[in-house]
Amino acid sequence: MSENCTHDCSSCGENCSSRKSESMKKAPHKLSKIRKVIAVVSGKGGVGKSMTSAMLASAANKSGLNTALMDADITGPSIPRMFGLRDRAMGSEGGILPVETQSGIQVMSMNVLLDREDDPVVWRGALISGTVLQFWTDVIWHDVDIMFIDMPPGTGDVPLTIFQSLPLDGIIIVTTPQDLVGMIVGKAVKMADMMNIPILGIVENMSYITCPDCGRKIEVFGDSKVDAVALEHGITNVVKVPIDCELTKAADAGEIENFPRDYYGDFFAKVAKSIKLSK
Ligand code: ADP
Repeated sequence: MSENCTHDCSSCGENCSSRKSESMKKAPHKLSKIRKVIAVVSGKGGVGKSMTSAMLASAANKSGLNTALMDADITGPSIPRMFGLRDRAMGSEGGILPVETQSGIQVMSMNVLLDREDDPVVWRGALISGTVLQFWTDVIWHDVDIMFIDMPPGTGDVPLTIFQSLPLDGIIIVTTPQDLVGMIVGKAVKMADMMNIPILGIVENMSYITCPDCGRKIEVFGDSKVDAVALEHGITNVVKVPIDCELTKAADAGEIENFPRDYYGDFFAKVAKSIKLSK
């Protein structure tokens, strides 16, 4: 790659490795307008990646940005449930239209395409990757300032396809304290480096609980290591989100965007600043 690489191949004549990876990128639907794209990743399932994607999308939307959420977790889609989405996606002549949440977040997920949300998706990797790419190429995303992609966990086939094919502006890593945070973050940093994508922050989910009687923070899974690991990799944006039973209830009731406590506002503001995103 050229020393002066700006990742804008349209104004650069160099035939470098960055240009090769750019050429693998898929164009979105011709009627879509999407300014920034952020992938939310985790090392394994169950750490709160979908919860984080939903809460970040809600924070972005509350800040006045036109927000979209692509649920790329095809075999375990939980985004529609968290937002209480019951409508199925409609097709128009030109493409598929996303479903909108109460507050106007545009969502596409396998579960808004299936007849029944409990129908299983028993597909091989290539078909799953193809479907995620269609969420990008065949869905008409309307005037989106920021899109979050709830990625499948790990670093398998589908995440790799998304990393290679979609023009990601950054990655947010979700871990829990009992996760092997050093290893998970190390892997994500290496993958992001290989793809030339910046890491915009780390969410330590289920970091602690707050005692309902005395208000003391209790680190149920032991001392948090996330700050040290973030420092090691030069990542300055870290948020610690507690285990909050009200959060689980809001997600189960399909009311996640109306959740009153603000755990992600400052974190998202730093993310928006680092990708130079303002309304
Ligand atoms: P993943 O996407 O990583 O598989 P989810 O976001 O689906 O994980 O979260 C798994 C479960 O944990 C869900 O039932 C969710 O509501 C719950 N959950 C996630 N984060 C929290 C939290 N901070 N406090 C309470 N419950 C949470």
